[in-house]
Order: sequence, then C-alpha cells, then structure tokens
Amino acid sequence: MAADYEVVIIGAGVVGLAVARGLAEKGIKSVLIIEREEAFGRGTSSRNSEVVHSGIYYPPDSLKARYCRLGRDKLYPFCRENDIWYSRCGKLVVAQEGQEEDLQVLYENAQANDVPELSLLDQKQVAVVEPEISVASALFVGCTGIVSAHELMAAFYRISEDSDHDLLLNAQTMAVEPKGNSYSISVKSPGEARYKVTANWVVNAAGLYSDRVAEMLWGMDDTNRPVQHFSKGSYFKLAPVWRNRLQHLIYPLPDVNDDSLGIHTSFDAGGDVKLGPSVDWLPERKEEYSVQEEDKDFFYKEAKRYLPDLKQEDLTPDFAGIRPKLVVPEGTYSDFYIQHEDNSGYPGWINLIGIDSPGLTAAIAIGWDTAIWISEGL
Ligand SMILES: Cc1cc2nc3c(=O)[nH]c(=O)nc-3n(C[C@H](O)[C@H](O)[C@H](O)COP(=O)(O)OP(=O)(O)OC[C@H]3O[C@@H](n4cnc5c(N)ncnc54)[C@H](O)[C@@H]3O)c2cc1C
Repeated sequence: MAADYEVVIIGAGVVGLAVARGLAEKGIKSVLIIEREEAFGRGTSSRNSEVVHSGIYYPPDSLKARYCRLGRDKLYPFCRENDIWYSRCGKLVVAQEGQEEDLQVLYENAQANDVPELSLLDQKQVAVVEPEISVASALFVGCTGIVSAHELMAAFYRISEDSDHDLLLNAQTMAVEPKGNSYSISVKSPGEARYKVTANWVVNAAGLYSDRVAEMLWGMDDTNRPVQHFSKGSYFKLAPVWRNRLQHLIYPLPDVNDDSLGIHTSFDAGGDVKLGPSVDWLPERKEEYSVQEEDKDFFYKEAKRYLPDLKQEDLTPDFAGIRPKLVVPEGTYSDFYIQHEDNSGYPGWINLIGIDSPGLTAAIAIGWDTAIWISEGL
C-alpha cells in the first residue's frame, strides 16, 4: 500500500521548517510537518540570541564548523531575497589584560575554519570602533550578524506552504514503527484523538525531544545511541538608555569548562540590547523558563568587565531558552548528530539531534543537505 506522504517531518522549529523549504526547492510536494504546539517556532527557535554565527569557535573537522559556514553563506542572501530583517553588524570578542594568548588561539582556530573578515585589534583600535567598551584587545569578526528568527521561520513556512505541504499543529508524535519500506507514526491531538500517518521518509527534527523520538524507533537498550541533556540559558534586557549605543555584538572569550560563549550583548531590529545567555544545567530535563531577579548580580558583573558605564539598575530579567546538548564522554566535543540511519537498519529515517548553537545559523544548510539525501533516495 502506498504511504500517506513521501516525507514526514517531526517538529516545526527552524530546523524542521528549513528541511521543508529544502524539499520545496527540490520539487517534493508530498510532505507533512507534525508539530505538538499550536503554532510553528514555539520552542528553542524562539528563545535564543538570534546571532548569525561566523564559525570561529568549533573544531575544524566538526559538523558545527561545516554547517555554520555553509549556513552563514546561504543565510544572508536568503534574508535579502525574502525581506527578512537582519544586520551584518560584525562582532568583537574581547580580551582583558592577560587573556591575549587565549585570543590568539581563538584567532588561529577561526583561520583554520576559513572564517573571512578577521582582524586583531589593540586597545586603541577597539576604542575607535566601539567607544562604549574598555578592553585590552579584541578579535573583530566582520561576517557575524543578527537575524529575526521569527521572520526566517515564517519565510521557510511560506515556501513550504506554496509547495502544498501540510502542517499538522497540536499534534504530538507518540510512537513510530517501521512498516516494510515506510514508517507508521502515531500522533496524539488534544482530546486524546489518536491516529496514524505513514511516510517513506521521516525527518526527526524534534529539538529538545529528538533523542526521545529516535528512541521510539530503536528502543532504549543500546547505550551508544545519542542522548541529550539540557542547558538553560537566561537573558537580561538593558534599559532604553542603551538603545543603539553599540555598533557590534560584544562577546567575552568563551568559557571552555561550561561549553558556553559567555555573557554577550545582542540587539534587535529596534536597537534594544540584551545580555546573555547564562549556563544552567537542568538535571531533570524539565522545560523551565523562569529568569531569576537574583541572577542580576552575575550578569552585571560579567558585562561590566567590558561595559564600564553599565549600572546594575539597567538590567531587567527577560527570557530563557534551553540548549539540547549531546551527551559526550568527558574531554570530547559535543557536536551535532546529523545522520541518515540506513546503515543502522533504518533506511529513510533521518535524525537531527543535538542541534544547539549554532543551529539557527546552520538550519538552512542542514535543511538543504537533508533535502538532497531525500531527493537522491526517491
Ligand atoms: C539560549 C540559546 C541561545 C542560542 N543562540 C543561538 C544563536 O545566537 N545563533 C544560533 O545560530 N543558534 C543559537 N541557538 C541554537 C538555536 O536556537 C537552535 O539550534 C535551534 O533553534 C534549534 O531548532 P530546532 O528546530 O532543532 O528546535 P526547536 O525550535 O525546539 O523545534 C523543535 C520542534 O519540535 C516540536 N516537537 C518536539 N517533540 C515533538 C513531538 N513528539 N511531536 C511533534 N512535535 C514535537 C517542538 O514543539 C518544537 O517546535 C541558541 C539556543 C539557545 C537555547
């Protein structure tokens, strides 16, 4: 019996929608997107810094380095063509007295990743390009920017809709089962209504729950399978006195112990500035998005190191997001897990797991590669 759809995508965040856009570009029309929330983009894709990353941080042979570079190169032209708000504002990674060697290491990694528009600036040069900050030196990265994540997702969705793809909202994937050459997916809607949909290809883009969705297919016995843990990141917004005062994104040096980029500045289309994200591991894997007033002191101290005019009363709790990080052995790198599982005995099943930062930047390229695998396999 023919399957209901050629492709089912589980999850309508930026990654699932980018896959739908890629399939539309490839002329594949028989596509269903299943989303458990009442609208697309309600998960991590709406709870992040909205930075178009350059790719300076990741190990050169990692998937993060590859997809960040490819995604960044595709994203700016896509934004221009689709009238999506973005700013290619550039960023400064700043070093305090005594951190020059760490800055040099980052610079060399950026060069190894072929990141363009890099320059090392001394104290005086930094003061010229960004008078509000006071630091010993900085790495300028010209190709970093910011983008409206919502407008990006809306554009992906428009392209998918124009190709007659279906989007099923309020629909949670509960179970999956191989059925000959296809997969049967059990879906639950409000009111306990349950039904099954079949597809020849399944793309698991379920974000925080992508490892659990994969588990529905291959069970829980194999401990080598990818598993995620949750790293919460909170933000504080700055008072309107800071609006449009910074020309670039300002980042401290990354914190390698916490696998985080540090408390940095970002701004939106209106020029409003936010600080974040922090790192708070959630051992229970519970979605919890409150931002605590008592954390203000920490954010203030971190940002004050490079923003001398910052006052504690400038900060107000804003929002939080949760990074789905792949659990890896100590001392190894937590990369993306992007895999067509044909070699594991599941042809037609594609897992996109551990898509934390730079997933927003990388989504368009991940979506494109996934669409190529599917179009070549049809
Ligand atoms: C604090 C923070 C800051 C970040 N900053 C940046 C940044 O500046 N730049 C950058 O490039 N990246 C950044 N990221 C990373 C980026 O936000 C993510 O990589 C990206 O949004 C992941 O998109 P996604 O579609 O995989 O996940 P999501 O947006 O979470 O989408 C997954 C979707 O699947 C749905 N779903 C889950 N389970 C089921 C189910 N069983 N059935 C049906 N639907 C289901 C969910 O409801 C959700 O809508 C940041 C992340 C965080 C948390």
